[in-house]
Amino acid sequence: MTSTAPPLSSSYEISRPRKFHPDIVSAIGDTPLIALDRLFDPRKFRVFGKCERFNPAGSIKDRAALSMITRALDDGDLIPGVSTVVESTSGNLGIALAQICNFYGLDLILVTDPKVTAQNAALMRAYGARVELIDQRDPETGEYLPMRLRRVRELLGTTPHAWWPDQYGNLGNPAAHHATMGEIVASLAGEIDYLFLAAGTCGTLRGCAEYIQGNGLPITVVAVDSVNSAIFGEPAAWEHGHTRRIPGHGAAVAPALLRDGLADRVIKVTDAECVAGCRALLATESILAGGSSGAVISALRRSASWIEPGSTCVALLPDGGDRYLDTIYSDAWVAENIEDFVNLDDLDDIEEI
Ligand code: PMP
Repeated sequence: MTSTAPPLSSSYEISRPRKFHPDIVSAIGDTPLIALDRLFDPRKFRVFGKCERFNPAGSIKDRAALSMITRALDDGDLIPGVSTVVESTSGNLGIALAQICNFYGLDLILVTDPKVTAQNAALMRAYGARVELIDQRDPETGEYLPMRLRRVRELLGTTPHAWWPDQYGNLGNPAAHHATMGEIVASLAGEIDYLFLAAGTCGTLRGCAEYIQGNGLPITVVAVDSVNSAIFGEPAAWEHGHTRRIPGHGAAVAPALLRDGLADRVIKVTDAECVAGCRALLATESILAGGSSGAVISALRRSASWIEPGSTCVALLPDGGDRYLDTIYSDAWVAENIEDFVNLDDLDDIEEI
């Protein structure tokens, strides 16, 4: 039998526009902006979600990792084939650094603690990172972080050509998010009234706010933090009963990157609200997002009373839900760990904190 398929024509191939990235790191950024018209009634105000899970290593931290590493390469602080990057992280930054260090031929040691999920540790190792687990808590604070940082300092002292990105203080971290904000402004032709984002190192907050202020844009920046986090001052007494089980946003100490005047408003959300936000996003928009995305969605829902009708909001959705299948998306885990779980619709009456 003879084929009926048309012959391959080289002119067909040549006349098609070619769009490709020369390598994986140049595929970082330019993530999709998706209207969330099912979850938020567009007749009141419109919400767009910036889906950062589409970055190659799966989160918004790809941007910060690329920016910190390429700056250090440009400055000569890192030499491929010679240097070792050492960082304390158990989540998205670790995975992002692991891919980027693999790409640039840099050794990487990630200092983590028992809160790192098996899947995240496996991802870091798959990219070639050495993962060190610190399972002792600091006797004074009860936190793992001080012990992890002590180990980082030890490794910096003993590993030849070691370099520490210091994501909580490295200006390359916020600098990466000038581009995040630039993409949003370009996508919506500048017509944005509110930006809702989750705060951890405050790299995203600082980078986006600096872009907004530097360009004189009238955008209200709403930072979303975790209840019982110390980013925006010591937690209030009532917050102390809440544990922070969902990683990503919130911090035990105020990051060095934070400065006054970046956020116009701060909203603190509970773990229960993160879960409710994630599940609402999945049920209505079919978007499987991570915990801090759920936090941002809950914060938006809580803000419905003061958001100007007819306005445009952007919600940064930092990562995907694949990394939370055993927690946020596990009914058994939620039943055991989230005592005050409520559906998002029941949150409407809660006042902004
Ligand atoms: N959400 C997730 C899922 C994250 O991994 C991070 C980074 N820790 C954040 C939010 C906070 O971003 P940033 O560090 O830029 O404040």
